[in-house]
Amino acid sequence: MSLSWIPPADRLSALPPYVFARLDELKARAREQGLDLIDLGMGNPDGATPQPVVDAAIAALQNPANHGYPPFEGTASFRRAITDWYQRRYDVELDPDGEALPLLGSKEGLGHLAMAYVNPGDLVLVPSPAYPAHFRGPLIAGGKIYPLLLKPENDWLIDLASIPDAVAEQAKILYFNYPNNPTAATAPREFFEEIVAFARRYEILLVHDLCYAELAFDGYHPTSLLEIPGAKEIGVEFHTLSKTYNMAGWRVGFVVGNRHIIQGLRTLKTNLDYGIFAALQSAAETALRLPDMYLHEVQARYRARRDFLIQGLANLGWDVPKPKATMYLWVPCPPDTHSTDFALSVLQQTGVVVTPGNAFGSGGEGYIRISLIAEQDRLQQALNRFQQANIRYSSSLVSPQKS
Ligand SMILES: *Cc1c(COP(=O)(O)O)cnc(C)c1O
Repeated sequence: MSLSWIPPADRLSALPPYVFARLDELKARAREQGLDLIDLGMGNPDGATPQPVVDAAIAALQNPANHGYPPFEGTASFRRAITDWYQRRYDVELDPDGEALPLLGSKEGLGHLAMAYVNPGDLVLVPSPAYPAHFRGPLIAGGKIYPLLLKPENDWLIDLASIPDAVAEQAKILYFNYPNNPTAATAPREFFEEIVAFARRYEILLVHDLCYAELAFDGYHPTSLLEIPGAKEIGVEFHTLSKTYNMAGWRVGFVVGNRHIIQGLRTLKTNLDYGIFAALQSAAETALRLPDMYLHEVQARYRARRDFLIQGLANLGWDVPKPKATMYLWVPCPPDTHSTDFALSVLQQTGVVVTPGNAFGSGGEGYIRISLIAEQDRLQQALNRFQQANIRYSSSLVSPQKS
């Protein structure tokens, strides 16, 4: 007997389909057909977790003190490692008791923050395109999304001046993320100053996702929201160990900033989970305390891949700007092609998986996102296949619009 006649709650039907899940089905089908897939679709780092972190996890596993329920607010020593790390990387001072909360990955916290703060009907400002959790959390909570369209002519920065006064006055939360997924854009410090002033003026809770802060290149050092005076009164910042430390499967992230906002999230979470396995918190602490040399190695790897792929795409007619951070290239589709059609045709013709920009909201239409998550020999193979299938920026099928 099937229970398919019992429908899930309405909050699930409010969600647009998760494009990554659909992409997974298509990948599975392509694999069945024997295609050798080069998967540059997900933001799933391909490297191994640093050995000292693995060693620390093994040692912590052997300690029975770690085997029980961990403390709700995370272990004191991991919280201390988080605030020390903020001091070291951003010169920001935080209280480990109340201004830092470990999370089961930042996606969990980003989603639950919306459950903790958004009432049905509340207005939430979210860029388009955006990382899906930034709008899916508020949608699950019953919020209304007001999309902030990001545009190339504005360097993919939020155009705060374009937000109508009435909207700003009604808005409760603003989610944002620089260095940005998916556009790979970065924001200057002045932008952070403007957005803090905006949020203070309209009394909006600011949620910044700084998950790519350490994947920055060529001497660029991203800004933390909390560096801006007054930001801590209205904002929080999310981080993850997934990208920087190749720990996506470990599910370790954290949020820092305003203690009242964090307290609200913590109250919700005490009803839903017990936090991260203490042995993993101990390993995560080791990661945050690794010498900067480790970060430089990771940065060098992504930078080399970035330069290699940008050059290869240039040979195929693409003019892709060089991002100062993240593990992505944000690549325009050939003129007059939709991002989903283009991504699917690339997959079918070449076995290379890229993400259609509209997976991140309609503001991503006309672009694909390529993740730098393969070694250069695989990237070269992808380029070769593009060449063979005549996948270029401006094909003879379409009228060339711009060079
Ligand atoms: C990858 C990613 C995350 C998710 O990180 P987890 O800690 O693994 O949940 C959060 N935000 C952005 C923008 C991301 O790209």
